Amino acid sequence: MTSPADWLLTSAPPFLKEPFVTTALLPNFTVGQWTSGTGPGTPLFDPVLGTELVRVDATGLDLPEAFRFARDTGGAALRALTYRQRAALLGATVKVLQANRAVYEDISVANSGTVKADTAVDVDGGIFTLGTYAKLGDGLGDVHHLTDGDAARLGKDPLFQSQHVLVPTRGVALFINAFNFPSWGLWEKAAPALLSGVPVIVKPATATAWLTQRMVKDVVDAGIWPAGALNIICGSSAGLLDQLQPFDVVSFTGSADTAAVIRSHPAVVQRSVRVNIEADSVNSALLLPSASPEDTQAALDLLVKEVTREMTVKSGQKCTAIRRVLVPEALYDSAAAAIAARLAKTTVGNPRNESVRMGALVSRTQLNAVREGLALLKIHTDVLHDGSATPLLDADAATACCIAPTLLGTRTPDTNPVVHDVEVFGPVATLMPYRDMPHALALIRRGQGSLVASLYGTDAAALSAAALELADSHGRVHVISPDVAALHTGHGNVMPQSLHGGPGRAGGGEELGGLKALNFYHRRSAIQASTAVLACI
Ligand code: NAP
Repeated sequence: MTSPADWLLTSAPPFLKEPFVTTALLPNFTVGQWTSGTGPGTPLFDPVLGTELVRVDATGLDLPEAFRFARDTGGAALRALTYRQRAALLGATVKVLQANRAVYEDISVANSGTVKADTAVDVDGGIFTLGTYAKLGDGLGDVHHLTDGDAARLGKDPLFQSQHVLVPTRGVALFINAFNFPSWGLWEKAAPALLSGVPVIVKPATATAWLTQRMVKDVVDAGIWPAGALNIICGSSAGLLDQLQPFDVVSFTGSADTAAVIRSHPAVVQRSVRVNIEADSVNSALLLPSASPEDTQAALDLLVKEVTREMTVKSGQKCTAIRRVLVPEALYDSAAAAIAARLAKTTVGNPRNESVRMGALVSRTQLNAVREGLALLKIHTDVLHDGSATPLLDADAATACCIAPTLLGTRTPDTNPVVHDVEVFGPVATLMPYRDMPHALALIRRGQGSLVASLYGTDAAALSAAALELADSHGRVHVISPDVAALHTGHGNVMPQSLHGGPGRAGGGEELGGLKALNFYHRRSAIQASTAVLACI
């Protein structure tokens, strides 16, 4: 039977679609069946209109059975397939999601308050990542395990050698995700896990769980994956971590505070459960000095464009967004003026209005958090651009969780720890001047490890030297020179071929990076045997 929420998205006349007028309880999918929680549920809201959309609830779910079924039934069925067969299922998943894309856009606008381009970053980014792993997996062939490197002699006689193999872990992959990427956040983790032959239980962030739930529902309804392979639990995280067993893995994206709770959970500490953490990060953009005024201007233009884009895409709710902008002292004022001029063109408001460039934050909680963070940063910085004087387009400022972009600046970044420590998860960045390259690199290091830094310049040797200097403290260094101005993939865009994650404050995790992502879902073992035995492997 079609649920009220589904009906509104598919069959209802347009006047009913906006605003949504339903409070359907989204069911969870575990043990091969859809089960609604037995509690009243937590409401999800439209962050622009303030209307309640749907509810989520996990009360009363049999969690031990949910994990056992995924681990035993789902895991065994997935492992019975080869890498190429699982890759084909990823490809089939892509087709189902593409066919339902219009529904995802409606949900994203309603629940995340995103404009079309920002919805695409999440929805199409997720589908693209799945498609990439479908292709990569096809290349692995019809095998059930992977070899890792060549066999190595263990003694003088070459007959007895050691061969490392990678086999899928016989546990379940639990994903605990952040609110800002309900689509991409699921598929960037699920694609390598399912390709590896490891069943998935996803717990999306409550505020935006609808899109994740709907995508899983469409894929489950299409009957692509074996029973137990793909599961979703919406609502409270209570009791999830208690279910973890030694061969399970957890991949978490969210705040450093929650990450600390997960890291110290007894199941993780006592049962050696493997954990990957993607946490927050105060990412930077660095303009390198150039030899000529023309080169300086070319590099500055690239930086200004990217900083403005990063501040406004998804209203700055990207873990990879630029938070600190470093420019040579002599360029501080011109950089401030150029960024402010571009930000002034950003129209903010209801994403349903085609003229709006930047929609809302996902919730009132986030709006309050951004306001608080901004107020703290403002104590220590100058306001170089404040878009809040311009009225919202098609949105009521009293209801909508919209906030205009703000560029802050400090001329004393050395003595201003707050600008290196505080991540405001919204359209906010801080400009700061530096004296020379050692000073710039030292300031960037004040972030204590980030997901990404971007470099802008025209001198290839200087850019590569700076990139290598920053590589130990960043998961990714994105270098933008005029020759790749029209080619580069964007400071904040996470490409499946490249590593995502960062050391230190960023959580110490690693995701994606092409086939490297499969390592997390495999166990490596050394098989020591005669070359005759190893030849059979
Ligand atoms: P959060 O409060 O830590 O929540 C993240 C997830 O953890 C949600 O699904 C949440 O569920 C769940 N959770 C909360 N308490 C938990 C507990 N005690 N045990 C287990 N799970 C628990 O983070 P957020 O505010 O949603 O996300 C924003 C932060 O994520 C930002 O700081 C951002 O930098 C970071 N982030 C990082 C990345 C990255 O890839 N590195 C990507 C995106 C975001 P509920 O929603 O039900 O509370």
